[in-house]
Amino acid sequence: MNDEKKLTVAVIGAGIVGLCTALELQRDGHDVVIIEPDAPGGRQAASYGNGTWLNPGSVLPMSTPGLWKQVPGFLLDPNGPFIIRWRHLPGLMGWLIRFVLAGRTWPQIETCAAQRYELSRTTAQDHAALAEEAGHPELIRRNGLMFIYPKQADIDAEGQAWRLRESLGIRFRKIGSAELRERVPELSGSYTLGMQIDEGGQVTDPGAYCNALFQLAMRRGASHKKARATGFSFNGNRLAAVITDAGAVTCDRAVIAAGVHSRDLAMKAGDTVPLISERGYHVVIPDPGFDIPTGLMPSDGKMGVIMTPQGLRLAGQVELASVSATPNWQRAKILLNYVRRMFPGLAAKVDAIENDVGSPHYWMGHRPSTPDGLPCIGAASGSTDIFHAFGHGHVGMIQAPATGKLVATLVAGRQPAYDATLFSARRFA
Ligand SMILES: Cc1cc2nc3c(=O)[nH]c(=O)nc-3n(C[C@H](O)[C@H](O)[C@H](O)COP(=O)(O)OP(=O)(O)OC[C@H]3O[C@@H](n4cnc5c(N)ncnc54)[C@H](O)[C@@H]3O)c2cc1C
Repeated sequence: MNDEKKLTVAVIGAGIVGLCTALELQRDGHDVVIIEPDAPGGRQAASYGNGTWLNPGSVLPMSTPGLWKQVPGFLLDPNGPFIIRWRHLPGLMGWLIRFVLAGRTWPQIETCAAQRYELSRTTAQDHAALAEEAGHPELIRRNGLMFIYPKQADIDAEGQAWRLRESLGIRFRKIGSAELRERVPELSGSYTLGMQIDEGGQVTDPGAYCNALFQLAMRRGASHKKARATGFSFNGNRLAAVITDAGAVTCDRAVIAAGVHSRDLAMKAGDTVPLISERGYHVVIPDPGFDIPTGLMPSDGKMGVIMTPQGLRLAGQVELASVSATPNWQRAKILLNYVRRMFPGLAAKVDAIENDVGSPHYWMGHRPSTPDGLPCIGAASGSTDIFHAFGHGHVGMIQAPATGKLVATLVAGRQPAYDATLFSARRFA
């Protein structure tokens, strides 16, 4: 690259989005400073404990037509995949209204899905390439992903979603009962069908993967400021530094990639973004005694069931409450109830884990969620030197590589290959 375009870019946050962004900025020849107070991809980050799915078909936002009819059930059913903590409802009402309105009609969903697909179509291959560069190809598995269903009517109930995927060119195939038994013999006979996305994959250990990407960025010359970003300082209308709780980091550009904690920083950069935490949980069953060939998602539990080096990870649940609310481990136990149904042979191990609440096998984290299912990527309203890269909700692992590429494109002033204006934080103005 041309020397005069070489910039110092501060990337705030070393979750998967910040790390992929840092690596893409380095590819363009920039000097990168990663500002992160904790371990990159540590337990504080959503990127640590997620469902590990790299699904190019994760194009549908959470809010779809008719969802509003289910909201009362979400408030009242203590054992479902979605719950709103009553006490936090007043603070969430504005977001919830936007959320329901964003998914009123199928044309809205189609626009959103097409936009999401731009960020997810090559996810598994992009991650595989990054893992290879980091010297850890084993951290990405490209064995596909499978949704599993009790019966055909359950697939039909999601027919619109599968048709939408098909219209975007996302390939999938139906797995019959015999093949399902053969591939996952331990699975309960109450699941009889699967829908396999062959191009999907999995991060085998997201915490280790983030650490590997961080080490790669460091080997390529990044520096690490172990501090929490609190704001920005300007020289006239140009960015001068990111302010942290341990001093200023001088830079030409800054990228806000602090996950759910990005909201306050975005506000300081001129954008008011309705960003909340969709809290999620995971539980790990160590040594389950069998492997599963791909990540599974049961249609009733809406959760990821995946093999990790620590054991069988069950990741899911959506709990709407403030970021600071204490975890409700009952939500994690609901994941265990589903897995009891899926794998009856695991009953004794599930019982043992159920009595081990609060151990490292239990985890709670924050999906950084906007109401319309799209992240915020692009220049901030208050400064063209500050870029947003947050709000990826349920799909941050999937969308991180493409987000990194898009941010690098925008920082360089190049034209993106697709219309990225729908990602602008100004849509919430
Ligand atoms: C249960 C669950 C299951 C999920 N399953 C999947 C899945 O299967 N596939 C998928 O694609 N996605 C999944 N997700 C979503 C995914 O994990 C997130 O979208 C993604 O990890 C967000 O990454 P991030 O880098 O934006 O944020 P994070 O990973 O949260 O990282 C943000 C980082 O910023 C740091 N930080 C915060 N404030 C500051 C500050 N002021 N200054 C500096 N640093 C700061 C934090 O310490 C943290 O390290 C799941 C999430 C959950 C909770």
